[in-house]
Amino acid sequence: MEVVRETAVLRRILGGWRRAGAKVALVPTMGALHEGHLALVRHGREIAGRLVVSIFVNPAQFAPGEDFERYPRDEAGDLTRLEALGVDLAYLPDIGAMYAADHATWVVVEGPARGLCAEARPHFFRGVATVVAKLFNRVQPDLAIFGEKDYQQLLVVRRMVRDLDMPVEIVGHPTVREPDGLAMSSRNAYLSPEERRVAPELHRVLRDTAEALADGRPAAPLLAAARARLLAAGFTAVDYLEMRDAESLEPLEAVGTCPARLLAAARLGATRLIDNLAVAPVAGCEPNPFSR
Ligand code: AMP
Repeated sequence: MEVVRETAVLRRILGGWRRAGAKVALVPTMGALHEGHLALVRHGREIAGRLVVSIFVNPAQFAPGEDFERYPRDEAGDLTRLEALGVDLAYLPDIGAMYAADHATWVVVEGPARGLCAEARPHFFRGVATVVAKLFNRVQPDLAIFGEKDYQQLLVVRRMVRDLDMPVEIVGHPTVREPDGLAMSSRNAYLSPEERRVAPELHRVLRDTAEALADGRPAAPLLAAARARLLAAGFTAVDYLEMRDAESLEPLEAVGTCPARLLAAARLGATRLIDNLAVAPVAGCEPNPFSR
């Protein structure tokens, strides 16, 4: 596995692969790799001839006072895991070369980037879209793989790629969970043993609520009950728990014939957890192209 930090070296290697006709996939990550990331990497290995995994803790998607400094980092462990999975190239760009001191250009997506995670983290999707656009420009992948765990982010990236005519196919991958249902996340490492015990309740509440919503009942009372159940279970705050159209992320008052998604962010002490689930649409609907 090549371990590359400089963009000029990256371009040289990728240029050679492209001239040889290889299809290149990129899996962008912030490192501290767990089985969720590794599932994306394995999928990339299956669908492309050359596989690049980037590791970059992107300061632009953290606000001052968020966890940029204490975000888990394990470069040596990550590289060992990637090498074992047959990754061709690990790209670890330097922060200073990613954002010049006078960096002045940002990618701002509207539509699916409004509301939900953007309420509590208004800076977040601008940072994500900008770094993903820069990674796409540097790597120029044919395919890029993103997890449904960050469902709003997946839709924001899809919209950016469509609206800006980026020649990259965005591949979504289902959420990988712990045996008790908790969605795997690098931030799970922050949880105390007591918080870790409470955390899977987020998935259970989403699962039960998605089931109850599937028959088309009005969403508001079910969503209110779900928020209350999270607080009763020990979550300190519920940033949001909402049902949205699975493609546009427009709010829905009840499940209709279009695919719907239940999305939540909730806090356990200082840790913010997110999760989401597909809600089965009422009969007669086309399958949801975003969940496989
Ligand atoms: P991150 O390192 O958190 O920025 O995540 C990098 C990529 O891995 C993103 O596309 C995430 O959606 C994806 N990812 C993170 N956790 C999971 C998970 N539990 N299941 C599936 N994909 C995940």
